[in-house]
Amino acid sequence: MAVPRGRNQDPPLLWYQGQVQTRLARRGGPLVLARAEGARVWDAEGRSYVDGRSGLWAVLVGYGRAEVAEAVARQLRTLSFAPLVDVASSVARELAAALTARLPEGLQTLMLVPTGSEAVDTAVKIARFYHYVGGERRRRIIISREYSAHGSTYAGSSLSDPDRGLLRGVGPGLPGVRFVAAPYRYRCPYCAQEPACTLACAAVVEDAITTAGPERVAAFLAEPVPGPGGVLVPPDGYWQRVREICDRYGVLLIADEVVTGFGRTGRWFACEHWTLVPDLLILGKGMASGYQPLAAVVMRRHVAERLAPRLVPHGFTFSGHPAACAAGLACLRIIEAEGLVERAQQMGAYLQARLRERLAASPVVGEVRGLGLMCAVELVEDRATRAPFRLGASGVDFLDHELRRRGVLCFADNPLIVAPPLVLARGDAEQLVEGVAEAVAMLVARRERSREGRPPGTERRTRG
Ligand code: PLP
Repeated sequence: MAVPRGRNQDPPLLWYQGQVQTRLARRGGPLVLARAEGARVWDAEGRSYVDGRSGLWAVLVGYGRAEVAEAVARQLRTLSFAPLVDVASSVARELAAALTARLPEGLQTLMLVPTGSEAVDTAVKIARFYHYVGGERRRRIIISREYSAHGSTYAGSSLSDPDRGLLRGVGPGLPGVRFVAAPYRYRCPYCAQEPACTLACAAVVEDAITTAGPERVAAFLAEPVPGPGGVLVPPDGYWQRVREICDRYGVLLIADEVVTGFGRTGRWFACEHWTLVPDLLILGKGMASGYQPLAAVVMRRHVAERLAPRLVPHGFTFSGHPAACAAGLACLRIIEAEGLVERAQQMGAYLQARLRERLAASPVVGEVRGLGLMCAVELVEDRATRAPFRLGASGVDFLDHELRRRGVLCFADNPLIVAPPLVLARGDAEQLVEGVAEAVAMLVARRERSREGRPPGTERRTRG
């Protein structure tokens, strides 16, 4: 019997990730993008938006870079595929050399993989295998942190903050995972009310290790600055203390820089803000600025040395795809040639200062924080109590809608996150600031109206 050809839109033709499909359909479906250039994208109707999400934290060098497209096309014409097994492409080797030259001393062996989640899985397997080879076969536990995001594979889901719900209905996840608090000065359970940080958030890492038994702990995994979790910039001293703790107990320190790598925070890698050298460094997203899927785990010398004589039973068909390596190499050269790391630092400081200034009087803004070109706006019901502003699904949709009406795309949530490409122009930064400030003002108006008993959504629009 012939398969029926006609389809209706329910269920949808294409699955949109991280969305309730029916809710998205009710909102009119996804924003269909037609083209993009620099830090801006255009929808199918020709409306333009400043992309304060960098795609999904990926687009660092900006959209539409001819040199990246040409490098990829040239590579595909020359050698379209070479799996990284007992053959290799010279572009993968060139990328490894160029990248390790940028990395902190000692981080020198690159294991390429297609995506960030696969890099997280890879890092966990490497960490456990490292101890296995070293004769410490009971070291299986991975300590992760609250507010973390480490991807969507089973390992990534298991290692991400359970509140993200990635294992809801599909667990159990990976065994041997523990969570500790992350530094979150504004909402710190230990010292938010104290005049200065007590670094209790670092001490809990040691507590977790000693409680589990150091002989059972393989690694501590964390983002140097959690991005999706709310741009949580750690206090000075945190990473130094955690490094000392990991060293004391023989626990590997894994830094997930999938979001923060390649200049996002105003340094090549966020670890550099605190001279942290992790044992394993996870990279992804901005590694090829979204032109190709490309991610990696970089091993510190002692890890690579221990594993090199052994067969590590791990790898993916498309790891280090030549087209992805060509894109990565082209992006690396652009970041360097155009001074995008310094630009992220300067433009980030400007964006943060302007957001702070513009939102200073808002009754629902508790804090504006950030590092480089990643900023978060903490929304509160009340500035004195710091009670979180409960957006709910309708509030998220409302905020997103108000931002888009102003030609701005941001991560519309609480905290609201702004993370544009590093090539952001001053005028686009201004549009982001105005868009965020006006959308937050609309949120306040909506709240007032709902308090007055009028249904949300009947508020007067200021523009558009
Ligand atoms: N690590 C971090 C810090 C992330 O934010 C993400 C994704 O958002 C990942 C890993 C997973 O990366 P990917 O989506 O490329 O698998």
